[in-house]
Amino acid sequence: EVINFVAFLHFQLNRFDQIVGNSDENDKQFKIVRQIPLQPIWMEIDTDKMGQVIDNLMNNAIKYSPAGGNITVSLEQTKTQVLLRIADEGLGIPKKDLPKIFDRFYRVDKARSREQGGTGLGLAIVRDIVKMHNGFVWAKSDGETGTIFTVVLPYAPLEAETDDWAGLVD
Ligand code: ATP
Ligand code: MG
Repeated sequence: EVINFVAFLHFQLNRFDQIVGNSDENDKQFKIVRQIPLQPIWMEIDTDKMGQVIDNLMNNAIKYSPAGGNITVSLEQTKTQVLLRIADEGLGIPKKDLPKIFDRFYRVDKARSREQGGTGLGLAIVRDIVKMHNGFVWAKSDGETGTIFTVVLPYAPLEAETDDWAGLVD
């Protein structure tokens, strides 16, 4: 359906604020830093599926980071693309593993990952859903001071939107 991605993203992140927010009940606390534009970004997405993408990336950022770090979520729109970035200050991912983390069941350093629990499917699902939206996703990391995941989705102004605003553009 057609939604405002800005509002959608805030809604998803509000749920995580409650999970990792400044409450004494949580053993892990994080600050979610939002770098999100004010103006709406209307686009056609499957909100259930895109919710899963954000969920998996945020859960990883939390799972593979020590408490107290920042998780920075930024959103950027160009003429043709929407870029969503989720950056953590966690363990990082070694260069040699980066090409494989989107494979089914692949987990970095089994000993390290075992205690965290998980199946190694989260990122494979992320990749499939992003592909389904004609986008792409990748990870960047120096292997020790955190990881940045970038999701790129194609963007084109919607017809109705263009009409509504046409008179306001010089
Ligand atoms: P699942 O998501 O299925 O519960 P998982 O988290 O192990 O299990 P993926 O989400 O697919 O599986 O991630 C694959 C592997 O990539 C992880 O096991 C972990 O080693 C590494 N990884 C993913 N995200 C991060 C991150 N933000 N920081 C460090 N390592 C990460
Ligand atoms: Mg995961």
